[in-house]
Amino acid sequence: MPGPDTPPLRLGLFGGTFDPPHVGHMVTAVNVRHALGLDRVILMVANVPWQKEGSRQITPAEDRFAMVTAAVADVPGLVPGRNEIDRGGHSYTADTLAALANEFPGAELFTIVGDDAAAGLHTWTRSDEVVSQSHLVVVDRPGNHVELPDDIDWIRVEVPRLEVSSTDLRRRFGDGRPLDYLVTEPVLDVIEARGLYLAGEGPA
Ligand code: ATP
Ligand code: MG
Repeated sequence: MPGPDTPPLRLGLFGGTFDPPHVGHMVTAVNVRHALGLDRVILMVANVPWQKEGSRQITPAEDRFAMVTAAVADVPGLVPGRNEIDRGGHSYTADTLAALANEFPGAELFTIVGDDAAAGLHTWTRSDEVVSQSHLVVVDRPGNHVELPDDIDWIRVEVPRLEVSSTDLRRRFGDGRPLDYLVTEPVLDVIEARGLYLAGEGPA
């Protein structure tokens, strides 16, 4: 238990489908952790990404969790999170924050989102709770700023933006283009060992 003199744990929550996790995610997590002096950033693997349901086949959660675990294994301060998988059902950030507050009493929570996710914040279930239960951290591209409504308290962190997305990576698997340097080696090893993405993404 933290004593009265121990500063609260500063905990970042970086949620995603991570199908697969790529260097854009890693650069973001490492740089936000550094910029805000976070003790830990949890890469939280979404169980059922309800906003993506129906649009495509999503890699099973346990495979995505294995890839994220491999991605962060040797990275100080980054850890994989499986609260949403263990909880089952749909994944809502508000519920995950409540679970983390319970698990880490007194921790200061930071919800980290990319600019695309921030732009859709109003569509999130109970986004007001996300804003009230944590500091919202928006990862911004230099020179292309996201703006959020004035009544929302949020922190902007500029991180070099790597134009890579999981969607593009799945297409690359599909047509055999190289994945090197876009996905880290440990993630590629898991993909190979588990035979993931062999069917490719199919037509967009
Ligand atoms: P998909 O293409 O399947 O949507 P994605 O690459 O966007 O995948 P997600 O798992 O959807 O990855 O995103 C998780 C989080 O990472 C989101 O907050 C998203 O904004 C952020 N993110 C995604 N790609 C990048 C990137 N290249 N740089 C920084 N942040 C990113
Ligand atoms: Mg996305």
